[in-house]
Amino acid sequence: MKKSKISLKKEFLDKIYELFNKAKSVKNPDDYVRKARRLAMKVNTPIPKELKRRYCKHCYSYFSSGNYRVRTRNGMVVYYCLNCKKYSKFIMHK
Ligand SMILES: [Zn+2]
Repeated sequence: MKKSKISLKKEFLDKIYELFNKAKSVKNPDDYVRKARRLAMKVNTPIPKELKRRYCKHCYSYFSSGNYRVRTRNGMVVYYCLNCKKYSKFIMHK
């Protein structure tokens, strides 16, 4: 039983990656972020770190060209969301 739960999470994770990949090329990427978050919540699994930095953690808008500013500071990447005017900080990839 435990095994099937894990494979379900894996399946959802694949869907989440797929949604984020699609979000790059659609007009309404925010919807894809929301869908991905709903899926993650359903199976109680966190959104992978590399995907988390692709959207604003406050208003969940997908960071696409023109709706955010990015800068690095003390090993952190700071995204400034132009939609909600808030900052999202992430630890830089090594
Ligand atoms: Zn925002």
